[in-house]
Amino acid sequence: MSIRIRSVPYKTGSMAPHILIVDDDLSIRDTMYEFIEMAGYEASVAASAEEALDVLSINSFEVVITDIMLPGIDGLELTDRIKENHESDVIVMTGYSTEYSYEEAINKGASDFVFKPVRLEELLLRLKRVLNERSLNLKQIQMLKKLKKLSITDGLTQLFNSRHFYNQLKGEIERCNRYGHTLSLLLLDIDNFKDFNDTYGHLEGDKILIRLGKIIKSRLRNMDTAYRYGGEEFTIILPETYGEEAKTVAERLRAAVENEEFSDGEIAELGITVSIGVTQYCTEEVISNFVQRADQAMYKSKQGGRNRVSFLCGKPANHHHITND
Ligand code: GH3
Ligand code: MG
Ligand code: MG
Repeated sequence: MSIRIRSVPYKTGSMAPHILIVDDDLSIRDTMYEFIEMAGYEASVAASAEEALDVLSINSFEVVITDIMLPGIDGLELTDRIKENHESDVIVMTGYSTEYSYEEAINKGASDFVFKPVRLEELLLRLKRVLNERSLNLKQIQMLKKLKKLSITDGLTQLFNSRHFYNQLKGEIERCNRYGHTLSLLLLDIDNFKDFNDTYGHLEGDKILIRLGKIIKSRLRNMDTAYRYGGEEFTIILPETYGEEAKTVAERLRAAVENEEFSDGEIAELGITVSIGVTQYCTEEVISNFVQRADQAMYKSKQGGRNRVSFLCGKPANHHHITND
């Protein structure tokens, strides 16, 4: 009978790493179970590789410690399957007299290797090292994700940045040309923003940009993505959207900005409006043409008196488009 002692460092939360011990020898299993639990980990046991795989299909474990010599599926094969289907690290145990080698176990993806009879203190050190490396790897992955996000995000508005805009637009254009999808683009520019900055200061101007970013984001449809294209200019990519529909989206956005109360405490009334240009992609045209036309449409809104939406239609390609698939 084994007594389970639960007064150890990790055990306060459920943060303790989960360790699965696989050995066909009951006394070894029990001894290791006790030791691993005493060290502060959450231990489980399995008497065979088959049982271990069953347990692994329901629960996740940071580390599996397995004997190599097992009835049925052996420990090396088990390591193979774990590395293929699960996220666990594996430590394998073997007797000195067996023909299994360290290289073989490592080649199967094992993180470490211990000889039997296992010295528990040594096993614990190896387990700690494996867990340590694991968390370092995890941190690296999280860091890379963070960096990736940073590289495509505009720091002020938290919308995507212009580099990401061009990448995404390129992808959408490829889809249009290949599958005949429709695509529309909005280009939005704040009206008389220079005057605003001159009157209230650059910092107040930045606050407007942040607010505007939020307004745009909150009004986007699922497929649409918004970008800070330049200083006070924003773009919105609308995949699978015809120009007419894009005009409606733009008009709603324009009205939302006009009706937003930008006044804040001391500054009484801050009437912010935007001019928007809308256009639809014409098959086979180059990206710069498409973006320029959105810009021209926006300029048309400025000339028309600002705080409005203008649409410009491109020239459709005058040759038959042959898909190459
Ligand atoms: P229009 O209606 O013709 O667009 O007038 P405008 O004054 O907005 O246009 P213009 O292009 O002459 O000026 C844009 C201004 O936007 C210049 C600059 O002061 C301001 N601006 C650009 N980027 C930023 C920014 O990051 N923060 C702040 N606060 N202002 C910016
Ligand atoms: Mg501008
Ligand atoms: Mg402007």
